[in-house]
Amino acid sequence: MATILLEVATPDKGEVYAKDINMLITRSIVGELGILPKHANLLTELIPHAMRIKEGGGETKLFISGGFMEVTPDKITILADAAEIPDDIDVERAKSAYQRANERVTAYKQSPKAHEDIDIDRAEAALARAKARLLVKGVHMG
Ligand code: ATP
Repeated sequence: MATILLEVATPDKGEVYAKDINMLITRSIVGELGILPKHANLLTELIPHAMRIKEGGGETKLFISGGFMEVTPDKITILADAAEIPDDIDVERAKSAYQRANERVTAYKQSPKAHEDIDIDRAEAALARAKARLLVKGVHMG
């Protein structure tokens, strides 16, 4: 089966993932993208999500907090703000982040005027990161 090299790096950790894969299903600012070997050149921005990687007949997930993806016919390069393989995700930390962000978003939506101190964009981004980390670990929250 044809393969394409996937490399994921972050400024803090350097290389997080590097492997020949069969397909990447990822989410960009313009929607979901399926990348197969020999894909056309592409440069796009990614949003926080659980990427799906198909390789060797199986599928694994990888958390991406957002960043940039460059695709050439034989290589996918992702530079992410943060990225984690499943083994590196601390579920309790992600659950706490989820609860904090969810409380902020809920309070703001119920009464925006009473919660002008809440940065709703920041809270929603934190909620999306926590949800995606939990999804990579197979934990589903509301
Ligand atoms: P928190 O509020 O728990 O810090 P966050 O979404 O604000 O979560 P990020 O800014 O995305 O955190 O990441 C900061 C650093 O912490 C990155 O290096 C990231 O890989 C790491 N990190 C964040 N949450 C987790 C987690 N649940 N498990 C493992 N590493 C994590």
